[in-house]
Amino acid sequence: MLVTTPPSIPQRPRRPIRELPDELISQIAAGEVVERPASVVRELVDNALDAGATQITLRLQAGGVRLISVEDNGGGIVRGELPNALKRHATSKIASLSDLESVGTMGFRGEALAAICSIAEVSLLTRVDTADEPHGWLLDARSGELQAAARAPGTTVEVRELFFATPARRKFLKTDATELAHCIEAVRRHALARPDVGFAIWHDGKLVAQWRAVGRGGMEALRQRLADVLGEDFVQQAVALDWPLDAPDAAGPGLRVWGFAGLPDAARSRADWQFAYVNGRYVRDKTITHAARSAYEDVLHGHRQPVYALFVSLDPARVDVNVHPTKIEVRFRDGREVHQGVRRAVEAALAVPRSGASAEPVNPQPAAVWAPPARQEGFVFRPREPEVGHRVSDVGALWGGGPGGASTGSARTEFGSARTESGSDRADVFPGSIPSSVRAGTDSVRAEPVKAPANGALPPGDWPLGRAVAQLQGVYILAENNQGLVVVDMHAAHERIVYERLKQQLDHQQVASQPLLIPATFAATPDEVATAEDCTAVLQALGMEITTLSPRTLAVRAVPTTLAQGDPVELARSVLAELGLHDASTVVQRARNELLATMACHGAVRANRRLTLDEMNALLRQMEVTERSDQCNHGRPTWRQLGMKELDALFLRGR
Ligand code: ADP
Ligand code: MG
Repeated sequence: MLVTTPPSIPQRPRRPIRELPDELISQIAAGEVVERPASVVRELVDNALDAGATQITLRLQAGGVRLISVEDNGGGIVRGELPNALKRHATSKIASLSDLESVGTMGFRGEALAAICSIAEVSLLTRVDTADEPHGWLLDARSGELQAAARAPGTTVEVRELFFATPARRKFLKTDATELAHCIEAVRRHALARPDVGFAIWHDGKLVAQWRAVGRGGMEALRQRLADVLGEDFVQQAVALDWPLDAPDAAGPGLRVWGFAGLPDAARSRADWQFAYVNGRYVRDKTITHAARSAYEDVLHGHRQPVYALFVSLDPARVDVNVHPTKIEVRFRDGREVHQGVRRAVEAALAVPRSGASAEPVNPQPAAVWAPPARQEGFVFRPREPEVGHRVSDVGALWGGGPGGASTGSARTEFGSARTESGSDRADVFPGSIPSSVRAGTDSVRAEPVKAPANGALPPGDWPLGRAVAQLQGVYILAENNQGLVVVDMHAAHERIVYERLKQQLDHQQVASQPLLIPATFAATPDEVATAEDCTAVLQALGMEITTLSPRTLAVRAVPTTLAQGDPVELARSVLAELGLHDASTVVQRARNELLATMACHGAVRANRRLTLDEMNALLRQMEVTERSDQCNHGRPTWRQLGMKELDALFLRGR
């Protein structure tokens, strides 16, 4: 065995307790606040925004290490206060504890400029917009020298040779290109929150990014800014959301969540396009990240990272922004409320099927929503304005008379050859499906209360997912819509429909159940028998009845109507297996969804089943009105559009 002797600890000479010199205190503070050039950029842009600037221009050299200059057209600093601006703990933004508790500006700690001055060469050129100040002032931070200088109202802060006095920290910097990228990212975060402010970034004399001011805020301005900053693709593949407008009853006190959530298809391998803001401040917050992620749970699987730009606004008194030196973290007074709000907002937006939505956008006319803080007046808290155009698809109505409605009347099963009590074989397989009414040109004889968006009432040419024309290899449905060809993975799509229907029914505690004429018996394991006996209530809630015939034999006596088409024994076995994994008394949300997904898989139409055109059309119409029907239960897309352009390209047409 190797024996090592501990190194002898050198005795340090005792030192007296002393107050540190100011300069050193600032350098220590700078260690927290300024990690790299991008941190300086963030602080200076914060200051410019707090000063009410509408145009901010950055000039960088060598990734910001040699020079960071931030020029704004904000309110400027009056001459008498200039020396204070560079002092530690000197700020114009708060004056009392109660100010701190309701702070609406980006800055408030009064340490950024002091910290930056301690590790770089700083000069400040500023002019206030008043008649008695005919010129501006230039302050050299090192010498304290102040001289008159020409300038339009506003402020320019120049930071040269970052870390010149602390070479050890300079060594941690990466290449100029990397530092530049971080600087641009810092501005980008600001830019998304403030479409009303124009930004330009120059690097070594070249313009590297420019985003023009677009309006006073609101959803349209945000959409435009997102398109400018993240690309048109981002907004094309994202849905607008605004909560609690989507669910007025669920509002927490003054909590509002709005922005854009990327569709599952737009997810990325890295979490680099997840922008979250609290009262206009970019944050990295576990509550919000987790809530957003869980909103995608049902539509995004594996390691894909959703993309979004989400804005949470709430009463400033309900969030503590003073928990991190760079203010990138916050603490909510009620994290649960925020979690729920974010989750519901995103979930609701993602649930609307795009096929249906294409005819009617989720949020066609957003109201003016985000008002940036007025010049140092603190956070402007605005009541919601009524908004039009929000649509929550009425899925419940489709299960034939609302959730549970399917339990009335004769059993309706999927995909024909139904095992109905009357024994009749019915071909109109999808409850609530449309074509009967279209064909008949009257209200459906079955009086299915299909409400808007009842695409079946539209002329077939307008059906978003088109008119079925064929089935391919028993796997895909081909349909024609006015953009071209729609290809649908029929099993995946149907599985989602069945799953959503089961969820809906279970939420309303009305999973329609259908007794089997002849109970299906099977040889069961002792575990299965025990689970069946322990979980009668849960099974009943799921629309199933399983009784014990002998210690080794179970009988399935009833199955959910929705799943009546499948094999009852297989269904019973997998449900019992799932239930065996969980404590029956706490079939929590998660386990519940897994359970329903398992059941849905049994109920969904199998590949290789031949469908009639009516059946196919019925499936398409149902997809159009089923929440989340654009993804299968495993997060893969259920349908794709091949537009005429793409088809023409395939055949080199028009070249
Ligand atoms: P804080 O932003 O936390 O107040 P800073 O050290 O960043 O602290 O800035 C100190 C003060 O200097 C601010 O409170 C503000 O009054 C003034 N100031 C800084 N930058 C600007 C600017 N670009 N325009 C106008 N005033 C500014
Ligand atoms: Mg500041």
